[in-house]
Amino acid sequence: MSASTKLLSGVSKNFSYLRDLALMAFPNNCLVCARTLMSDERDICFSCIDSLPETGYQHMADNPVAQQFWGRMPFVQASAYLYVQDANITQEMIHLLKYHRKHRIGIKLGRLYGYKLSQMQPDIDLIVPVPLHVNRKRERGYNQCDYFAQGLSEVLQVPYEPDAMKRIKENISQTRRTRYDRWENVEGIFALADPDRVKGKHILLVDDVITTGATIESCASALLTGADVRVSVAAIATAGR
Ligand SMILES: [Zn+2]
Repeated sequence: MSASTKLLSGVSKNFSYLRDLALMAFPNNCLVCARTLMSDERDICFSCIDSLPETGYQHMADNPVAQQFWGRMPFVQASAYLYVQDANITQEMIHLLKYHRKHRIGIKLGRLYGYKLSQMQPDIDLIVPVPLHVNRKRERGYNQCDYFAQGLSEVLQVPYEPDAMKRIKENISQTRRTRYDRWENVEGIFALADPDRVKGKHILLVDDVITTGATIESCASALLTGADVRVSVAAIATAGR
């Protein structure tokens, strides 16, 4: 909890002028466009939220993300919340989340997509983020997917388990590789930390951006080594529009 949040939570509604003073001392700005937030806005302003390029894929069983996985792995549903492309708002948000420690962007996006997914009444038992390799996590200090998972978990009221899987190999750079090479490249990268933790569960596997789908495929194949496991996929973004 930040100093400003602590202070604000201790201020009675009867003393709104104190709250206003506190807000002046701790400016509350949109994490994306930096505009000052209105009192009913949190973390990301309504204008930024309105401009998010949503895919709407959660409404389509045969959406392009799901089609990517057809014939590659068994799954229940697969979708991505937003389109990402060069210099669009999604790319900017993912950059802020990944490299500038704007964790609240990840949580906010998870909550926003959680509301969309909750309307589809998914019977998810557990949310599992794609893990980073331990060296990469040490370098960055966090796994950006954990925050998206946390936001989804809050709204869907389903637990999330950041340590359900481990990344046993760090895959080398995927740029300038063919699709086939990439598929080979991520085989055997992940393993279940404890098969009992996923046994019999419908798992929502979450990632930040789906490109070739190879990472998800590799992760899902490790999850599916658990007994009676079903897998669905949700990402923050996929290429397009
Ligand atoms: Zn904004």
